Amino acid sequence: MKFVVLAVAAGTLAAAQQPNLGYTDTPMQPNGKWHIHDPARPQPKVVPPGANAAAPPADAIVLIGARDDLGAWEQREGGPATWKIANGVAETGKGIIQTKQQFSDFQLHVEFATPSVVKGDSQDRGNSGVFLLGAFEIQVLDSYRNPTYADGGAAAMYGQFPPLVNASRPPGEWQTYDIVFTAPRMTAAGDVEKPAVVTVLHNGIVVHNATPFWGATAHRQINPYTPSLVKGPIALQDHGNPVRYRNIWIRPLQPDDA
Ligand code: MG
Repeated sequence: MKFVVLAVAAGTLAAAQQPNLGYTDTPMQPNGKWHIHDPARPQPKVVPPGANAAAPPADAIVLIGARDDLGAWEQREGGPATWKIANGVAETGKGIIQTKQQFSDFQLHVEFATPSVVKGDSQDRGNSGVFLLGAFEIQVLDSYRNPTYADGGAAAMYGQFPPLVNASRPPGEWQTYDIVFTAPRMTAAGDVEKPAVVTVLHNGIVVHNATPFWGATAHRQINPYTPSLVKGPIALQDHGNPVRYRNIWIRPLQPDDA
């Protein structure tokens, strides 16, 4: 109890007098910019969170929101997005759609539902996909009691890594992906300095933990990194199955000391 009382007293003093909030007689951090507990280090920006973890925070870019508007998207082959959207729910149509805006590092929230009427099996059941930078696919599939090759199930880094667990909900139910992605870093010579890395939560459960891609994802082959992979759009796959999407938002991220 004594410790608690002292801590409260110190906090009250700090608030009342706004004294030096940290220390300048401490060692420099390895970044060479700040002392440990440096009072001059800028405060993190205040971002009011959404009402729940699925609602977009104040600084998110809403890609599919409450309005029936696909204005943030275009057909990959060119022209305005032609998928249907009603009541804030878009359904896969003909061709891949992608954001007009390009991204590199980001936090991305996606909600999807595979068809409630189950048709087909393996890769032909509720197949779509979320392509990060238009090149790295996080698989969308009805993986509820639907075996397929492990690196092609729901939430797989397609053709590379299965999810750590199968967190799929039954067909027709809304599911979430929360994705933290770091774009690859390439040297001027076009070599990979750092690969792309992804963390994915499927329905709130970690299914990839800072896992590197070995290149762009692909069907039945290995694709190498290319210099253009440092940025790109978010793309949604048309695989001929009527998968629905809603509430998609993204927050571009800066490196910690940018
Ligand atoms: Mg797919």
